[in-house]
Amino acid sequence: LYDKPCGRFAESDFCRMNEQLALPGSKLFYRDVRLGLLGGGQLGRMILRSALDLNVHVRVLDPDPNAPCARFADEFTVGDFRNFDTVLAFGQGCDVLTIEIEDVNVEALQVLAQQGVQVFPSAEAISTIQDKGLQKRWLAQRGFPTAAFEWVADTTDLHALFGPGPFGEAPEWHFPSVLKLRRGGFDGRGVQLLRSENDLQLAWDAPCILEQKVDIVRELAVVVARNTYGETASYPTVEMEFNPEANLVEFLFSPSSLSPELEAQAQQLARSVAEQLNLVGTLAVELFLTTSGQLLVNELAPRVHNSGHHTLGASHTSQFEQHLRAVLGLPLGSTGLKLPAVMVNVLGAPGHSGPVVYRGIEEVLRLPGLRVHLYGKTETRPFRKMGHLTVLAATLAEAKAIARQAQQLLRVEAD
Ligand code: ADP
Repeated sequence: LYDKPCGRFAESDFCRMNEQLALPGSKLFYRDVRLGLLGGGQLGRMILRSALDLNVHVRVLDPDPNAPCARFADEFTVGDFRNFDTVLAFGQGCDVLTIEIEDVNVEALQVLAQQGVQVFPSAEAISTIQDKGLQKRWLAQRGFPTAAFEWVADTTDLHALFGPGPFGEAPEWHFPSVLKLRRGGFDGRGVQLLRSENDLQLAWDAPCILEQKVDIVRELAVVVARNTYGETASYPTVEMEFNPEANLVEFLFSPSSLSPELEAQAQQLARSVAEQLNLVGTLAVELFLTTSGQLLVNELAPRVHNSGHHTLGASHTSQFEQHLRAVLGLPLGSTGLKLPAVMVNVLGAPGHSGPVVYRGIEEVLRLPGLRVHLYGKTETRPFRKMGHLTVLAATLAEAKAIARQAQQLLRVEAD
């Protein structure tokens, strides 16, 4: 786990790569290749850090003039990445186009690809993942293990599934179940637990998927990268702990507590999803370990991900650099962990909205093995992701203890 990359590297692959480099190194490393990035949030900002190291020119599109990338991109365009015309015009000025958010206009990406812009991941992969209904169907059709699910068009459809059939048959679905908006949900917003008839009254009247509620022992994720040559490299599995109030990841540990057999299974699942999607870029595969010991794929994100933040510092190659390598036709870097790592999201405190102050940050900076990453957002809101902390230590127990200390010391409040 600590030294070996999880990816497969064959010498012949590298030879093939050198022959076929889509973007000749002579241009790429001298700022002549224009890499476009849809989305200028914190994920983009961390991609920019790696772009600086590789001397790659990046143009960013985001609707917010104060987005975390705004002051650091080589070029920053204010515009909506969901708008066809905006994405088309932006993309036409790029050699390679990638994303840090999946909610982008895929129709424009399709046209850009036809016009010769290298779009990674492809419009097809993004559109499959954008819609949780299509994503689940795609996974199920290929035999990937997932929770049982059904598409529901609206509340009439939903009520029918929990009611008796036309001939008095038993209902098809039972409580508890989980309802998920097909589009637009993130960080737990867009997921409703249906415990009883009462909860049905509060259900969304929109296209959703209804999922069997799974008995989860652990929530896990594997970040995998795949480059233009089909080479894959995955990071050791991470394990999450959630803040029950906000339903956001609070702690993330790596390596996870999975047995070596399950670890191998998780790696294999993630790589296989990336390969079958023909994905180029980074993919996060969120997994559940059930009480019966089965790994289920919960959901996919076709981009760098919160569950890979610790790789910035904890891994030989961060997920952000890996993403650049993948979409720019470069060899993938080693994914081995340097030391056990814990990642803590720095979230806005409940009850605080407005200009942000980081109380206790000086004490936090005294803690051993800890690094602070702030995203440069000027306004805090309850549970808004404002930054993250990474702790490296000789043992996971030690790293967790320091992370807990940091969490108690740091308060993200409004001035
Ligand atoms: P989001 O995209 O908003 O993060 P997820 O699909 O990851 O949505 O769901 C959010 C959380 O809800 C999960 O991390 C998990 O704790 C819980 N959850 C989701 N699906 C199920 C399920 N089928 N059974 C039990 N819990 C679930």
